[in-house]
Amino acid sequence: MKRRSFLHKATLAGVAPAMLPKTGFSYQKSDSTITNDPIAICTWNFEQANATAGKALMSGDNALNAAILAAQVEEENPENSTVGLGGAPDRDGQVSLDACVMDHQGNCGAVLAVENFVHVAALARDVMTKTPHVMLSGKGAEMFAREQNYPSTPLLTPQAKKAWEQWKETEKYQPIINVENHDTIGVLCRDKEGNISGACSTSGLGYKMKGRIGDSPIIGSGLFIDNEVGGAVATGMGEEVVKTVGSFLIVELMRQGKTPQEACDQAIERIIKKQQGTPNFQVAYIALDKAGNIGARCIHKGFTYMHFQNNSNKNIAVKAYINS
Ligand code: ASP
Repeated sequence: MKRRSFLHKATLAGVAPAMLPKTGFSYQKSDSTITNDPIAICTWNFEQANATAGKALMSGDNALNAAILAAQVEEENPENSTVGLGGAPDRDGQVSLDACVMDHQGNCGAVLAVENFVHVAALARDVMTKTPHVMLSGKGAEMFAREQNYPSTPLLTPQAKKAWEQWKETEKYQPIINVENHDTIGVLCRDKEGNISGACSTSGLGYKMKGRIGDSPIIGSGLFIDNEVGGAVATGMGEEVVKTVGSFLIVELMRQGKTPQEACDQAIERIIKKQQGTPNFQVAYIALDKAGNIGARCIHKGFTYMHFQNNSNKNIAVKAYINS
């Protein structure tokens, strides 16, 4: 059997829904406020990316497609130094990308440490839909991208190369963590059907060690969706998000009745609590629930997010935990 047809056929064994145990409780939505007008939110001020998702949703596209379309705008943007083309390389000068997606049915896919392919969010979806796996990394993910006919593209732009060469003059192998160093795109969309899906795409920390993976492609850390409840997505210092499984935490807090804002606040507080003194790194979360309520919180000031709804696309400043 050819490798590709094996991948199509070899789905993981399914479980009949009737056989699944009941969870014992279900998330109570604030029913009166539920409307299914499309919503797209994304990290930072990625106006065009979020507008792309919003327009796709308005024309009836599903939430997963819309989220991936938004991620692609930044993946193709050579000016964004933390996503896709033009992303900062690792300390050896090689750009490597991470991404994940999750849909309203709880399906997910991720790719890690991918070199020479731009559209890693779409590739993560292909892992989800065309393989029996959830994650592919490095050479395996690149081999899969070639099989799926993704064009191979050098990701290191002259501008990013120049910045890396400047960094090499001092060459600190500890990544410098500050608020200016994060531009990962995380997108959450609710479509006309009321379904929520999301995508997250990054080149990770600039000048990271080769092979370093942050939170962004890790389901539950960089992104988590539960269509009964809502979704959450992260940007910032991935190591700290992974330690608290931040996006999953937020969705579970919402399931227990917290608003998206309260859930984001608690997830940031969870990180702060673990620190001795003031953290010198940024982490930010955004969250969306089924009723369309939005929450966002960050450690340091400077984080904003985009909100598309009712044909308006706004950039919103987020309250920081540390008001310095
Ligand atoms: N969260 C990303 C990572 O740790 C970085 C970022 O948001 O800039 O890889």
